[in-house]
Amino acid sequence: MTNDQTIVAPATPNGIGAIGIIRLSGPDAITIANSVFSGKDLAKQASHTIHLGKIVDGGLVLDEVLVSLFIAPRSYTRENVVEISCHGSVYIIESIIKLLIKKGARPAKAGEFTLRAFLNGQLDLSQAEAVADLIASNSKASQQVAFQQLRGGFSSQLQSLRDQLVQFASLIELELDFAEEDVEFANRDQLKKLIGEINGVIGNLIRSFELGNAIKKGVNTVIAGRPNAGKSTLLNALLNEERAIVSHLPGTTRDTIEEVLNINGINFRLIDTAGIREATDAIEQIGVQRTMEKIGQSAILVYLFDANEITIEELNQDIESLQKPGITMLKVANKIDLFEVRKSESPKVRKKKENKSKSGKIFSDKGGPPIPNTKLSDFRLQTSDFGLRTSDFLSISAKEKLHIDELKQHIYNSAIKDKLTGDETLVTNIRHLEALQKTEEALLRVLEGIDIVTSDFLAMDIKLALHYLGEITGAVTTDDLLENIFSKFCIGK
Ligand code: GDP
Repeated sequence: MTNDQTIVAPATPNGIGAIGIIRLSGPDAITIANSVFSGKDLAKQASHTIHLGKIVDGGLVLDEVLVSLFIAPRSYTRENVVEISCHGSVYIIESIIKLLIKKGARPAKAGEFTLRAFLNGQLDLSQAEAVADLIASNSKASQQVAFQQLRGGFSSQLQSLRDQLVQFASLIELELDFAEEDVEFANRDQLKKLIGEINGVIGNLIRSFELGNAIKKGVNTVIAGRPNAGKSTLLNALLNEERAIVSHLPGTTRDTIEEVLNINGINFRLIDTAGIREATDAIEQIGVQRTMEKIGQSAILVYLFDANEITIEELNQDIESLQKPGITMLKVANKIDLFEVRKSESPKVRKKKENKSKSGKIFSDKGGPPIPNTKLSDFRLQTSDFGLRTSDFLSISAKEKLHIDELKQHIYNSAIKDKLTGDETLVTNIRHLEALQKTEEALLRVLEGIDIVTSDFLAMDIKLALHYLGEITGAVTTDDLLENIFSKFCIGK
């Protein structure tokens, strides 16, 4: 990978806009820009200045532009960088880029500006990856986590651990040189203490991935329940105010709908599913199977039931079949608006009526339980009404939009609770997670062997731990790794 070429690409998205920005980076960036610019002599201008002029191709004026100059090393790539702001026409942008290529620049590959920033020491690898995350961020929380990583929170923490470990590695290497004499330069107790500390930090980072990943990608949240429980109505109620700003994601299966709901800065990917029921035919069975699969891939399950229609047996049966380890199930009774406010009846009266019921439905007496002296908007069913013992219970009316905000808060709490304080370092990248796990494994092997094995084995595992830690920040890289990371960037970044 050589940096002696000057690269060029549009920095603004393809399409018509008020302005378009073209970026040049490399040793000849200023010379090349100067050769097509009529205004001032750019070679004589100071860094971080902007100049008005025209881009001319021979005698033809292509556009009137503003040119920003960043002279090496005071630029994003640490090379000479020129940014040309022109009118945002696809034709003008293409024409200027073609002209710059004719004058000696070459088209930049995806992520090549950021790759150069990394190779020139402006950013470490995890910071470069944070640039991509920042561009892709679509919620307050994902923007903040990416920004924290870009500022280097993650890297500096790992770098200082790595530096300490490097010291031990060199002392143990020294022991290898004096193998005959059976000396110990690296104090084993100190090494144990250091590894304990490092694994503490690494353990926290590994554990942060679940939340970090949820913030970056959105928390999968399934709405499931029997047909007519009100799932689609609830989805609409949840998305009500948000609809204008949510993006519509195509569902991965044809019979589920996915929408994004933002609650307190976190994106929740809501998945409405085919109703669960006793499948009567093969096609329906596939739908139910897909629902179960979707539930398996989710962090939160909103189990919705029609409080007027369900029997205790059905309720317990549903809860039992839907409950999966690792998934938080919120039990939500719907259609409480159908319950009449009857001030006069006491619970005793209701009990009598209920006992007469043959249908098995919990609130078989149409109109539901009595609601003494309560406005409907303040009315809530209790877990005891259903014989449930759970804290994750709520009653709502999807149709009348009663207690929907309360449900949103419950959904948020199920995923985030008080886990997010704002300035913590969260791992959001699977590559980092894997490297951290391998580091931890290698260090555990060092700990296990510390009093038993010879220095050369210890040295091997310490080196391996250093290697994996280095992979995160880019202290250790291969061309394949870089290619893999930067090819996912957009052109011009
Ligand atoms: P799904 O099959 O679970 O998606 O259920 P739908 O959302 O299609 O709703 C089924 C029926 O129940 C529709 O007629 C809705 O208008 C009605 N419904 C949904 N939620 C409520 C509610 O909170 N109160 C009342 N009274 N009706 C509701």
